Amino acid sequence: MAKVFLNPGHCPDVDSGAVNYSYGVTEAAIVKEVGDMVADYLRKAGCEVELLQSDNLAGENPNYPNVCASANNWPADVFVSLHCNAAASEQANGTECFVFSHWSKSDRLAACIQSQIVHSLGTSDRGVKVGPRLIVLRNTTMPAVLVELAFISNDADCEKLIDQKRDFAAAVARGVTDFLTE
Ligand SMILES: [Zn+2]
Repeated sequence: MAKVFLNPGHCPDVDSGAVNYSYGVTEAAIVKEVGDMVADYLRKAGCEVELLQSDNLAGENPNYPNVCASANNWPADVFVSLHCNAAASEQANGTECFVFSHWSKSDRLAACIQSQIVHSLGTSDRGVKVGPRLIVLRNTTMPAVLVELAFISNDADCEKLIDQKRDFAAAVARGVTDFLTE
């Protein structure tokens, strides 16, 4: 049974992540809700799932559980961090995934998730990018992807993030199972 570690980004009450004040929503809350639904879908699909949203990604805040250490010690087969993107320009929109490097298992996992999200949500396809300095990608030992579901700073994307959390979650879960079965 595949072991999937989910990390909704940021941490309510400590680090809200990006905020859309007109809609009154925070990234930390959105990705936690989506993450909980991804966990449900994956458990129904037969995966073991751990979910951890924490202000400690790799040892920087000992008052919270360490995300990367938890995933590595379990050990997880797959690691997925969930985020919402934000930009100074309200026009920026779409979905993108980050991996430590291209031509890797992480790259395949990212392609599966990216494809499921853009096809089911109709968000712009910004592609799979490398982000070797991202803490959760640098410090995990299994295929790992950081997913930017959509832009919380763009009205149309933000409305999807508010109204279609279940669709985002189902797409992420299908991307993971596509990867596990390919
Ligand atoms: Zn974030």
